[in-house]
Amino acid sequence: MSKQYEKETICIQSGWKPKNGEARVLPIYQSTTFKYDSSEQMGRLFDLEESGFFYTRLQNPTNEYVASKICELEGGVAAMLTSSGQAATYYAVFNICEAGDHVVLSSTVYGGTFNLLTCTMKKMGIECTVVDPNADEEELHKAFRENTKCVFAETIANPALVVLDIEKFARLAHAHQVPLIVDNTFATPINCNPFQWGADIVTHSTTKYMDGHAMSVGGCIVDSGNFDWSRYPEKFPGLCTPDESYHGITYTEKFGKAAYITKATSQLMRDLGSIQSPQNAFLLNVGLETLPLRMERHCYNAQKTAEYLEAHEKVAWVNYPGLKSNRYYELAQKYMPKGTCGVISFGLKGGRQAAAEMMDKLKLAAIVTHVADARTCVLHPASHTHRQMNDEQLLEAGVAPDMIRLSVGIEHINDIIGDLEQALR
Ligand code: PLP
Repeated sequence: MSKQYEKETICIQSGWKPKNGEARVLPIYQSTTFKYDSSEQMGRLFDLEESGFFYTRLQNPTNEYVASKICELEGGVAAMLTSSGQAATYYAVFNICEAGDHVVLSSTVYGGTFNLLTCTMKKMGIECTVVDPNADEEELHKAFRENTKCVFAETIANPALVVLDIEKFARLAHAHQVPLIVDNTFATPINCNPFQWGADIVTHSTTKYMDGHAMSVGGCIVDSGNFDWSRYPEKFPGLCTPDESYHGITYTEKFGKAAYITKATSQLMRDLGSIQSPQNAFLLNVGLETLPLRMERHCYNAQKTAEYLEAHEKVAWVNYPGLKSNRYYELAQKYMPKGTCGVISFGLKGGRQAAAEMMDKLKLAAIVTHVADARTCVLHPASHTHRQMNDEQLLEAGVAPDMIRLSVGIEHINDIIGDLEQALR
């Protein structure tokens, strides 16, 4: 679809565009495989000489239509769906890193991302230097090494709600000839397009606002097509030299701007197989159709809730980038003028104990290990999502022991505040 349409229209009309007599709504291609008339044509598909579907682990039409919609929303050139946000993070990094390589990682990323990169990928020989996203550029330059292959950070960190200075990070990454990968899950492409500010690759846990209804786990990787891998062939041999596992194809030569996603699909998805099920992709597409409406309401409700909490006598602190008092207010205005997200964190004057008691008294907001869906929910990160971290790591990740993470849903604002009011009372 051309760039002439606004995001609201892309969310509804893009992706699946039925031809005469075809289903109006995106069909679920619930099929592992696809039929061809000639063996020669099937051979050409395997050689990547022709595009087409042959096995759902590699590509499936339902997934492709949904990936293309997200690609357009982000302003990228190619995208792929994965089985989860974790798989998206893993593939995005592993596609350009191998044993002996190094990643610069923002300290405030989601706990699962932190674990994946600093523990699991370490066992695969990939090292990580964890940096404070607020450090000045001079300090951040010191984190880079000869073998650094990418920088990874989040637009709005979960749960620290640190707003990334995307331009600063893009400048740093590019000065060291590596791409900036940004997890844009919390902002969504409705509120921020990291490519506009210099990011090269975007990842998503589509499980969150994109699906929006807490129904399906999924992930997505989008490539801006802007990073010129072929300028640094010795840094990115996987993209710039022949792939022996694929008949000697050199991805950058054969696929140009689509090299990165083609490699991730034909190599990583082929070998590791974290495909999103077409059923989940279908549900994700339903969620995407209302994403702009929901994001507007999430942001409105979160702003009102943050203001209410900030004025409450029992509340010790509130962290929401939409508050004027917030450290990241200016950055949020720059990168996300329409609003940030629906997630707020706060602490009570009674500390950790009071937090647990208050959470137990909530009637509307449920305690769940989830965030960013239509229903208001709460979590205590230090006891739940981040429980694998020690106190020092918690502080580095911006997670105070008394922090309550409140994911504000799209119910009526009076009911959300009413629930908090009775629990606080
Ligand atoms: N990135 C962010 C910012 C997240 O919040 C999460 C999950 O909470 C993930 C990635 C991982 O996504 P998933 O749970 O879909 O694997």
